[in-house]
Amino acid sequence: MADRRTTPIAVRSPFRATTTEIDWADGHKGIYPHEVLRGYCPCAGCQGHSGEVRFISGGDTSIKTIEPVGDYALHVAWGDGHDTGIYTFRYLRALCQCAECVPPERRDERGERQRL
Ligand SMILES: [Zn+2]
Ligand SMILES: [Zn+2]
Repeated sequence: MADRRTTPIAVRSPFRATTTEIDWADGHKGIYPHEVLRGYCPCAGCQGHSGEVRFISGGDTSIKTIEPVGDYALHVAWGDGHDTGIYTFRYLRALCQCAECVPPERRDERGERQRL
């Protein structure tokens, strides 16, 4: 049976929006600012092979298309043509930036890293 925590029931990414929202089957409302989605693009070009998830700043954060891949991931194509990112639902769930998943103290920490 599918894990409700990693099963999206709705994805909202309106044209020109700066945040995508995902409603998960367990009732959790996922919040994904596009700079976070882009910065944590999971493709090999962005993440390399270090095994550690890196934040890459500076990419175009406008989403051209966002579409499901099978029943396990979302494919995101960015405004600058970068379209190799396949975001698995498990990865997206872990990336959630809602107030519940990212308490204020962790938010500050990430802000620091983004300024580097
Ligand atoms: Zn990438
Ligand atoms: Zn959350």
